[in-house]
Amino acid sequence: MLKIKNLNKSYGARKVLHDLNLHIDTGQIYGLLGANGAGKTTTINIICNLIQADSGYVSINNQPITDDTKALIGIAPQENLLYRSLSCEENLTFFAKIYGLDGRRCREQVLKTLADVKLFDRAKSPVETLSGGMQRRLNMAVALVHQPALVILDEPTTGLDIEARYDIWELIKQLKNQGITVLLTTHLLDEAERLCDQIGILKNGQILAEGNLIQLRQYIHAEEIVVIKTVNEEKAIALAEKYGFTPRRYGNDLAFWIPEAMELKEIIARFEDVNIDSISRQPVRLEHIYLEVTQQDVVKSNQR
Ligand code: ATP
Repeated sequence: MLKIKNLNKSYGARKVLHDLNLHIDTGQIYGLLGANGAGKTTTINIICNLIQADSGYVSINNQPITDDTKALIGIAPQENLLYRSLSCEENLTFFAKIYGLDGRRCREQVLKTLADVKLFDRAKSPVETLSGGMQRRLNMAVALVHQPALVILDEPTTGLDIEARYDIWELIKQLKNQGITVLLTTHLLDEAERLCDQIGILKNGQILAEGNLIQLRQYIHAEEIVVIKTVNEEKAIALAEKYGFTPRRYGNDLAFWIPEAMELKEIIARFEDVNIDSISRQPVRLEHIYLEVTQQDVVKSNQR
C-alpha cells in the first residue's frame, strides 16, 4: 500500500534519511519507532508531499506521491491542528472543506466522524472546553473526515492519561477493522506492542530492524530476562557468563538473558555465591528488542 525505496534527505549538510526502505501492506498498523531526531517526521512530511526527498521513491497504492495522492492520506500531527475558539463541528467542517468535501456529503461526513471519535455529543462545544483526550480525538477526526486510505498518527497519545490512551487505542483498532492502513509513530513501546502488526525501528534515517513482534524477537537470544539487585554486581556478571546468561543494563537495572526456560530456583542456585537482594523475572519485551537494535547499530532491515 505504501512503498518507500532508497529515500534520501538532507537539510543542508546534515543527512537525515539514508536510503530508507519501508513497506506497509493494506490494512496494517505499522509502528515507526525511533529516538528524537531519527527522521520520523521528515519521512511523514515526504509521504504527505509537504517536503521533497533528495532521491528515492515513495508510492501509495502504486501511485507516486504528488498533490493528487494527498487525498488518500489523513494526518494527525503531534501538535493538535485545531482552532480553540471554534466548536468541534466547525473545526471539522473547516478541514473537510479543505479536502474538497461540500454540501450534504460534507455535513454527513463531519457528523459521522464526530460520532466515530465519540464526540458527537460535544459537536457544538468550543475546542478550548474539551479535555486533552477529547482534543486528541478531534485531532484524529481531522485526519479521518475525508475517508483516507492511509492514516498517519504522529505520537497520538503523548501526554495523555491512561483512560484517554485507552480511548485512542480503541479508535486505532477500529480503523484497522475498517481496513484503513495506519502509520503510527510513538515513543511508547507498550503502545506499539499492543497495536502494531509490523514495527520498523529507525535510527539516523535508516530502518535497522523491521518485522512483527515474533520476527523482531530474533534480536534477543533469551527465553526470559531476570533482573537482579545485588551489591556484588561484578561477581554476579562473572557467574552469569559462566552459565551462558548474557548480561545487559536496562537503565540502572542489571539484567541477564536466560537462554532457555528455567525454574526460578534453578536461576537463584546459579547465583548462590552472590548476596542477592532481589530477583525478578520479565518476559522479553519490545523495549529490550528496541534497545538491542538501536544500541548495536546492526543494519538488518528487511529491504523489499
Ligand atoms: P521527534 O521524535 O523528536 O519528532 P523525528 O524522528 O521526527 O524526531 P525529524 O523531525 O525528522 O526527527 O528530524 C530529523 C533530524 O532533522 C533532526 O536532527 C532535526 O533537527 C533535523 N531537521 C528536521 N527538520 C529540519 C529543518 N527544516 N531544517 C534543518 N534540520 C531539520
